[in-house]
Amino acid sequence: MPPVFRFAPSPNGYLHLGHAFSALLNFQRAQESGGRLLLRIEDIDPTRCRPEFEQAIYEDLAWLGIAWEQPVRRQSEHLSEYRAALARLQAMELVYPSFESRAEIARLVGQRDADGGWPRDPDGAPLYPGHAKMLSEARRAELMAGGAPYALRLDMTAAVARAGRLSWDEVGRGPGGEAGTVEARPEAWGDVILARKETPTSYHLSVVVDDALQGVTEVVRGQDLFHATSVHRLLQVLLSLPAPAYRHHRLIRDDQGHKLSKSSQATGLRALRAGGISRAQIRHRIGMV
Ligand code: GLU
Repeated sequence: MPPVFRFAPSPNGYLHLGHAFSALLNFQRAQESGGRLLLRIEDIDPTRCRPEFEQAIYEDLAWLGIAWEQPVRRQSEHLSEYRAALARLQAMELVYPSFESRAEIARLVGQRDADGGWPRDPDGAPLYPGHAKMLSEARRAELMAGGAPYALRLDMTAAVARAGRLSWDEVGRGPGGEAGTVEARPEAWGDVILARKETPTSYHLSVVVDDALQGVTEVVRGQDLFHATSVHRLLQVLLSLPAPAYRHHRLIRDDQGHKLSKSSQATGLRALRAGGISRAQIRHRIGMV
């Protein structure tokens, strides 16, 4: 079976040089290994994703000289598949609803910080500080029936206890030089959100479901997602899904050494193309010559 690669951008802005690097690396790995390259549009957030950004993804990738298989998988067309995976985790009693607003969560974190410090996840965001796991079934049902917004969270302690020790095969390198067999530490993320009242999935859940459904064998993506792999391995084991190999690559930075953002014109592919940059110049800027 040929190896299967995928590039999986979110259409919530224009692609930048970092995306170009990731997409070209996937394309190159697929070509070198006689593999397949899939394109997946990660558009589960209707408030941030826009059709013009999706269109720009196709144009910019084609301009870069990248070819991908059809059909493109658009996550927004597969919500029932994520709902089914969520239902399996719910049947294992690993999911609970939390009802705090963002403001309430910020207040709780402030309190915990004042009481001696509250842990942050690998991205620097505070772990979920609430006690929604303790709510009675009756109280949950009452809040939901009243129309309260909620997030469905993974009970991390129970999930980790069920899955046991986890690791993954890192064929690239983590931000701290990690390589080879890397031990997963999903507990560092706390009770992550798996779905919300209005969206039956989240980044973590849909990426794991899709990589398995699409038969992806090597995930090539930026080091900013290295630590998220711990959550992905946990969900794969809980859902009995196969584990791809992971190749995390260096991040492209701007002239000041900052991580690129979709809002910066200076490193956006659209703006660079409009300014007359060539494909060769792009490759040079991202160190792919
Ligand atoms: N959709 C994610 C992003 O644009 C990438 C997902 C992945 O490669 O796992 O950052």
